[in-house]
Parts: sequence; structure tokens; C-alpha cells
Amino acid sequence: MIIIMKPQASEQSIRTVTGYIKDNGLQVHLSKGEEVTIIGIVGDKTKLSTDNLIFFKDVDRIVPVTESYKLANKKFHPEPTTVKAGNTSIGPGRLTIMAGPCAVETRDQLMCIAENVKKAGATILRGGAYKPRTSPYSFQGLETEGLKYMQEAKAATGLSTICEVVSLEAIEAAVKYVDMIQIGARNMQNFILLKEAGQSGLPVLLKRGLCATIDEWLNAAEYIIAEGNPNVVLCERGIRTFETATRNTLDLSAVPVLRQRTHLPIIVDPSHSTGSYKYVAPMAKAAIACDADGLMIEVHNDPAHALSDGPQSLTFEKFTRLTEELAPFCQLMGRSFMAEEK
Ligand code: PEP
Ligand code: MN
Repeated sequence: MIIIMKPQASEQSIRTVTGYIKDNGLQVHLSKGEEVTIIGIVGDKTKLSTDNLIFFKDVDRIVPVTESYKLANKKFHPEPTTVKAGNTSIGPGRLTIMAGPCAVETRDQLMCIAENVKKAGATILRGGAYKPRTSPYSFQGLETEGLKYMQEAKAATGLSTICEVVSLEAIEAAVKYVDMIQIGARNMQNFILLKEAGQSGLPVLLKRGLCATIDEWLNAAEYIIAEGNPNVVLCERGIRTFETATRNTLDLSAVPVLRQRTHLPIIVDPSHSTGSYKYVAPMAKAAIACDADGLMIEVHNDPAHALSDGPQSLTFEKFTRLTEELAPFCQLMGRSFMAEEK
């Protein structure tokens, strides 16, 4: 439930309402807009007698929030959120590109990729150090060594960094070396991990689960925010359908649906969703056209010999061409493109 205060409601009236809610054992989420203040109530509302709240001074109206996610809900927080990762922002008015290899393989490989994706306009370097692979015999990642290379690449290029985490141990290591953590599709409903990510203090990129509904995804985001970490970015990376021509089916309609439901930034991953470098460019453009705040794209110096996800990785040349082609799409959508700001 949210309480919408009258325009020009006094600080005292707001304090009286929030105090009443807290005295009833519930949490308050305050959103102060230019015109009105919205007071969100989080917790077991059966504890609260809401009938009399409407009679409190300066209360305009009370709106029930039927969705189970509250802090991620646009009704609680109508203004779009901008999330900061290192020295990069993800949110309205800009297009943020995260690019890099699926997995950090060697120091030289990562440094070379970092320099090239930066030149092409990426502002966040991605690189997996913990790889949740379908087969236990596939390359599992360099772990802490990979994170250290990410830190080195950041120092050399100034790029912000993101790495997937799969355990509490990985989170504890990531906090020391990278700017943002990623919860992958396979862990979207690993609720213990979500809570730990919420406590990490780092911004979190939350990928959509392979078979997750938008409602389940937003509830997963809620787990992170409920731990006191509001810096969550959602990433649509394709869902499982009957179609086999692409690795997954990129659900671009999730972007406008999420826009209606949440204030969190939304990015699109055209690499994991399509599974083929051939489809990355068209879907990246489509993602901007439907108002995504950013892209996550896999780029490799030698895709044919990549230790993971080579078929969907772009070469430097293809990635550079793509970012050049994205500029007019960004302009059309009123987003500044980092490559042009340099
Ligand atoms: C990744 O980004 O490397 C990855 C494993 O993605 P997803 O969780 O979307 O499969
Ligand atoms: Mn990958």
C-alpha cells in the first residue's frame, strides 16, 4: 500500500504518518518527488489499521499495491532510478554498454579486449571469473585470479568492471576487485545468494532466469533491495521457448512491460539471448528502439578459440562497427552514447 500525501504536505505531517506506520511494526519507504511525497508501506499490513490513516493531516489518498514486490515497484518510486557502477551510470538519458569476454581466460586476453571495447565506446568491462557451465567438465573460470585481472584492466583503461558471482565466497572476493556484481540467469531464484548480494554493498546486475516470469524476476530484485541495496539493474537475456533457431528467445517486450512496473534500469543482452554473433547487431538496435538503458555484449579477440560462448562473441571489428551503427539509434531515443562523449 502507498500513501500519497497532498502537494505541499508539511514535514511534520509526513513524520506523523511515517511514525504511525513504524510504531505498528512496519517499514516505511519514502519517495519525495517534486510535487508529492509518496509513503510506501513494507511488511505485514495485517498489523496496521489503515482505515484511520486517511484522516491523518495532509494525506491525499491511499492506494493498495497488489504486487508482492514493493521496493522495486514503480508505484513506490515513480522516478526512474540511476545506478552507479564505478564511474559509470546506468539509467535514463544514456546508453551504457557493458562488453567483454564471456570468461576471463588470461591476463593478456583480458587487457587486449578491455582496450578494444573501450575504444569502441563500452564503459563497463564484463568478464566471467566464475562460470556456471552446463557441463561440469567445461571451463569453470579463473576465480580470484580472474578478478585480479579485471582490477588490472580497470586500472589500465579506466573502465568500470562487472563479474558474475555464484556463491558467498565469490561475492566476498568480488567486493575487493570489481565495481558491480552479476547474478546470472541460473541463479535468479537462488534466494540466499540474492540476499548476500543485497548485503554486499555493490550494485547488482540481475539477469532474468531462463524460465522466469517478469513477476518472479521483480520479486528476485525485491530480495536484493530488501537487504538495503537499492542499486539493482535488470538484464533481459532471453527465455526458453520451443524455438531452437536461437539459443533463447529474446523477450524484448519485457522492456516496456518492466518500464510500467519498475523504476529500476533495464538492459538487454543480445549475446546470450540469440547465441549467434550474426543476430547480436539487429537485436542490439531493437533493444535501444524499445528504450533499454544499456546493452551487455560478449566480445572476444579470437571467438573461434574462446573457452566459452565463442559462437555468440563479436570480434573487435564487428563490435566497433556495431557501436558506430548504434549512435543514431541513441540519438533518436534521446540517449547520450558514451562513445560520443569522449
Ligand atoms: C554470462 O553473462 O556470462 C552468463 C552466463 O549469462 P546468463 O546468466 O544470462 O546465461
Ligand atoms: Mn557467456
